[in-house]
Amino acid sequence: MTKRPVFRFAPSPNGALHLGHALSALVTHDMARKMDGRFLLRVEDIDMERCRPEYEAQMLDDLAWLGLTWEEPVRRQSEHFETYAQALGKLEALDLLYPCFASRKEIAAHADAGQNDPDGAPLYPGLHKGLSSDENSARKSAGEAFALRIDMDKALQAARAIYPETLTFRELDPVSGQVKTIPANPARWGDAVIARKDVPTSYHLSVVVDDALQGVTHVTRGQDLYAATDIHRLLQVLLALPEPLYHHHALLSDETGRKLSKSHKDKALASLRAGGAAPQDVRAMAGLAMP
Ligand code: GLU
Repeated sequence: MTKRPVFRFAPSPNGALHLGHALSALVTHDMARKMDGRFLLRVEDIDMERCRPEYEAQMLDDLAWLGLTWEEPVRRQSEHFETYAQALGKLEALDLLYPCFASRKEIAAHADAGQNDPDGAPLYPGLHKGLSSDENSARKSAGEAFALRIDMDKALQAARAIYPETLTFRELDPVSGQVKTIPANPARWGDAVIARKDVPTSYHLSVVVDDALQGVTHVTRGQDLYAATDIHRLLQVLLALPEPLYHHHALLSDETGRKLSKSHKDKALASLRAGGAAPQDVRAMAGLAMP
């Protein structure tokens, strides 16, 4: 028997779902249905400051209203910090992580002008890369908060030793069924944060660990996460995790061409529902045909 493909929608409950989320959820759900796949919902709530149970409740309610069905139990990332700690341990054992105590302000002050990561944040200028282990210990004992950053040069070297071919990812066009192989360039993220100061993991780490643990075969998400795939592939190689297929769908924009975000209150699903929209109206507004 062939295994069924596994899809997931992985929103963060840090605000109201809007039309852009609906598009992502529906694209994924439609693909799963078309390919007789499984559809999972994952709550990406590692940011305990911004994520709230009431947002999650509203999110699940909005998705059910849209007509989505998902497998239970829903995986909640905040319940799995131990699992991410194990993955961190593996990267630490490879000697690829180092603590960074610097604040955002300090980093911005030292960064080279115009050198940004793909998200637009200043590229980390290596401030705390060379701290001695004595200094690291002293700062830690003094209770200074720290993030763990990946030493990108070392990580690329370690990845090459494991996987000597060029690092790539495979992007699926769901309409034609064609798969393109795209070179991945994790170096453009610099020494990225793998465990944050406030929580002992990061989006990048949790997402690759969970996709592997949940047996996700198809990662479908918006084009805003296209560049993140580079670092995800690097982590997958370093942690010996399987490579899923990717599909990054086009993003919705407002009338002025700006990407839809939480600031577009009128595009929140709750507002659209309150205004009398039906699920099929939301599909149409997201530019999707009927399934
Ligand atoms: N949690 C991420 C978000 O809300 C999506 C993660 C992913 O699909 O890889 O944007």
